[in-house]
Amino acid sequence: TADAPVLLAAREVSKSFGSLKAVDRVSLEVRRGEVFGLAGPNGAGKSTLFNLLTGIPIRPDSGEVVFDGREIQNRSPRLIAKAGLKRTFQTEAVFDSLSVMENLRVSSAYGGAGRAVRPDAARCREVLDVVELGGDPERPADGLSLIDRKRLMIACALVSRPSLLLLDEPAAGLDPADQDALIRLLGRIASSGVTMVIIEHVLSVLEALAGRMAVLDSGRIIATGVPAEVLSDPKVVEAYLGP
Ligand code: ADP
Ligand code: MG
Repeated sequence: TADAPVLLAAREVSKSFGSLKAVDRVSLEVRRGEVFGLAGPNGAGKSTLFNLLTGIPIRPDSGEVVFDGREIQNRSPRLIAKAGLKRTFQTEAVFDSLSVMENLRVSSAYGGAGRAVRPDAARCREVLDVVELGGDPERPADGLSLIDRKRLMIACALVSRPSLLLLDEPAAGLDPADQDALIRLLGRIASSGVTMVIIEHVLSVLEALAGRMAVLDSGRIIATGVPAEVLSDPKVVEAYLGP
């Protein structure tokens, strides 16, 4: 992927909340086909950066975001999703009162015609296969285990065949066995050609999946490179251990 085209570029992106510089002149490039990791201590600005990349719910104060050759920093979240950039949130945001299948049906799916299109049942079954969420698709989502809620959340993001998927701490709360299952699942999705950016505290997930990664600390990128190098960088070790 080193010579693959750049799919997502952030250039000098910044966002302040009052006097707090949550994201401070962040630049990064993600190439087509790559799994890019993003780590950093709590409050470093990781989720805020995802918000800035997807237009939900905030915009950058300055800087630009280019996705698939188009500037998107002022585009609507809907248009960004339609262009092929999907994300998941830190919490397993599925609709408890809806069935597994209904969750997939209401997840925003955009067809080529430029209007919202509900995915057909065949596509829904296909993504349930991809995430290996078996069982009755008509059962309510509120009975799902944590790993299965994550499978459903990822399936909802995949329904519209995004070219880029941003995942915010997908391994949070999982025990080691379920973390391994998640790593295998995300590995399969990556192999199928979906480019991914993964925010993760569980560093073994990034070591297993990411070709490159960056570490954010206090809104700034303090290291970028292959995981083994980045995670042994003294600046990174210090950021995690604190002053
Ligand atoms: P991370 O995901 O790396 O843990 P966040 O991006 O969630 O960090 O937060 C970065 C900083 O910005 C934190 O200090 C957080 O409290 C602050 N922050 C995030 N969103 C808002 C907001 N909407 N309003 C005010 N402060 C915010
Ligand atoms: Mg976060």
